[in-house]
Amino acid sequence: MYVNRIGVLRDHPDLYGVSVYFQGCDAQPKCFMCHNPETWVVDESFWYEREDVLKTIDEKLQLLLRSFPKVALSFLGGEPLAPWNREDLSFLSGFFKERYGERIVTVLFTWRTPKEIVKENLLEYIQHIDEFVFGRYMHAYRREGFPSSKNQLHLDRRTFERIVRILERREQHGSEVLVLKGVR
Ligand code: SF4
Repeated sequence: MYVNRIGVLRDHPDLYGVSVYFQGCDAQPKCFMCHNPETWVVDESFWYEREDVLKTIDEKLQLLLRSFPKVALSFLGGEPLAPWNREDLSFLSGFFKERYGERIVTVLFTWRTPKEIVKENLLEYIQHIDEFVFGRYMHAYRREGFPSSKNQLHLDRRTFERIVRILERREQHGSEVLVLKGVR
């Protein structure tokens, strides 16, 4: 899988955790003043075997779990939902949720919005994510707190699922209206 770096960091408002920075960003155009431009381009120098990535993450998680009852496992980038990263995001989040259950909080940072995720049929890749930070980094809205720009949405899984249900109903309803009007 394509990974830029894995570190013990504070990428959650309340929890210490392990952060996995995937390599490659498919946002177009790129965000002005992006904090991680070194993660934009995918090439083979960032390729690691799954077993090696699992081992590195697990060692760091175990170290933290010795000191804290709960820790975060955050996925950032780059873009974890880019076409070449999404299967690995799904695999890693599923693997560690199964191994550590409620003791870890999986967090996805993505430039995509809930609407884009539904439209691109990406729900299957984020089944094991507990919390989300949606939206691009917008330098005009930067701040010191969390998330790093005010336009970004930090949501728990329950709230995200409520939004998805609304979006799906709206899409269904929209299609029915089009059929009634004889458009489709
Ligand atoms: S989506 Fe993330 S990695 Fe890509 S340009 Fe924006 S801030 Fe940078």
